[in-house]
Amino acid sequence: MTATLTQSFNEVRPSTKWSNTIPQHVPASNISGANNLIHVLDPHAAIPYVPAHNLPTPPATSPIRVIDKDSPAFVNVVDTPVHDLLRQVVQERNIGDLSGSGDESAFFACDLSAIYQAVQMWRQSAIGERVEIFYAVKCNPSPPVLHLLSLLGTSFDCASTAEINQVLSLPTAPSPDRIIFANPCKPASFIRSAADSGVHMMTFDNADELYKVKRSFPDAKLVLRILTDDSKSLCRLGLKFGAPLDTCPGLLALAVQLGLNVIGVSFHVGSGCKDPNQFADAIWRAKKVFDMGKAVGYDFKFLDVGGGFERETFAEMSQVVSDSLDVYFPKHSGVRVIAEPGRLLVSSAFTLATNIIARRLALPSGEATPKDDHEGADVMYYINDGVYGSFNCIMFDHQIVHPHPLTISHEITKCSPSFPPPPNIHLPVDLPVQLGYKDTEAASVWGPTCDSIDCVRQLVQLPKGLQVGDWIAWSEMGAYTLCAASTFNGFNRSPVLWTTGGDHPHAIAVRATLDSFNGPER
Ligand SMILES: *Cc1c(COP(=O)(O)O)cnc(C)c1O
Repeated sequence: MTATLTQSFNEVRPSTKWSNTIPQHVPASNISGANNLIHVLDPHAAIPYVPAHNLPTPPATSPIRVIDKDSPAFVNVVDTPVHDLLRQVVQERNIGDLSGSGDESAFFACDLSAIYQAVQMWRQSAIGERVEIFYAVKCNPSPPVLHLLSLLGTSFDCASTAEINQVLSLPTAPSPDRIIFANPCKPASFIRSAADSGVHMMTFDNADELYKVKRSFPDAKLVLRILTDDSKSLCRLGLKFGAPLDTCPGLLALAVQLGLNVIGVSFHVGSGCKDPNQFADAIWRAKKVFDMGKAVGYDFKFLDVGGGFERETFAEMSQVVSDSLDVYFPKHSGVRVIAEPGRLLVSSAFTLATNIIARRLALPSGEATPKDDHEGADVMYYINDGVYGSFNCIMFDHQIVHPHPLTISHEITKCSPSFPPPPNIHLPVDLPVQLGYKDTEAASVWGPTCDSIDCVRQLVQLPKGLQVGDWIAWSEMGAYTLCAASTFNGFNRSPVLWTTGGDHPHAIAVRATLDSFNGPER
């Protein structure tokens, strides 16, 4: 079946020109054979499946080159549903016999179809026709993730030379104009290296940055990052970046004086934005700065609405963005609009499997630990990944993570959260209870390091009967997790296993997409 898909996919692949400005509808004649098949398999599937060549941004304009078969983007990707894969690995690891021969180390499973689904969700949303995706690489820079996204035709937001080099060396060889260097405060050496790589688009929010760019890369296409109201976001980036509106006229005047090419405006409402109206306010501010640009002689044609999107509020948010664009930057204005989603695209794709390495009865509250810390827990579980590792998202990203058991008393369980998994926020009813476990007890869950800050959950209902050697999985672990993990105390980072997701139409589309990439004759 895969072979047929790939073949029909290739047949419709045009070799000619790209439109790299405003997204257009996919012409009916270009709907691939993969789409037809998906339609047959599931008439309600989220399609059209959009092959990379129909997308607004060109997949590659670099000269054709030899593909590096050893690229870290090429990993073994299986076609097993992710929850089956997790249980299969756990079973193979055979910790239960406690003979000491099993491998209890924690691992991730990535379901690439969740990334595909998120891209489709974007493309079918109110802004899907208008706003190009520049994926924020920092959120999860795993090479297979970047490879799939580049095949799906997204572009990239990079913040450092290393991220730029990582994108440029992907097997698809994205052209440098598919990168925005969206870090307003760059070391001079990074600016020079962006110039050497041909990455022109970069942000700034202060005068010194303009002088640096003037010295190192006077031909850069500059984007003014403005300050917006981020008070409703989990991570308030405005504390660090963004020019207040009253400084913008001065900055733009300086840019004119230095003869620099400012092409537009960017903002970031903050990561984990909880209030869609922040986007309306930010787009209004951007319009003000477009007017300031006009006043000093610029004619901006570029708007970058940043990241901050979350799955739970995406429908509402994309509608707010769409409505605001219609008011302040209508299509006929000719303004190219991009966004830099990170979390939205990857967070649901990764599930972490951890092993219970130790267990003990909880201390009576009031002794040894601060009182309200994990008051009420009857049992304490110690697992082999923690806040110094993949769960750094608890400290840095304010996430509340949710466990579900893969084994209980060394027996494989059957229930898994359905897609999409619950978000990493407080749940009124703990996930195991939602999954139907009746006989639960209050537990605290701790990471493996010798630091008492290393607490994964202070209080959560878990099924009774969990033992040392049992496995606990954590969904929704793709954003700001493995990329920021440390090896503090000598604990390894958890490795990733990859799957297309199995037999769902999105998974079939992922398989077709991966298989369609067959090297230099592209
Ligand atoms: C981190 C970051 C993003 C991604 O934010 P998400 O909340 O993950 O969508 C986008 N743009 C910039 C400039 C960033 O720093």
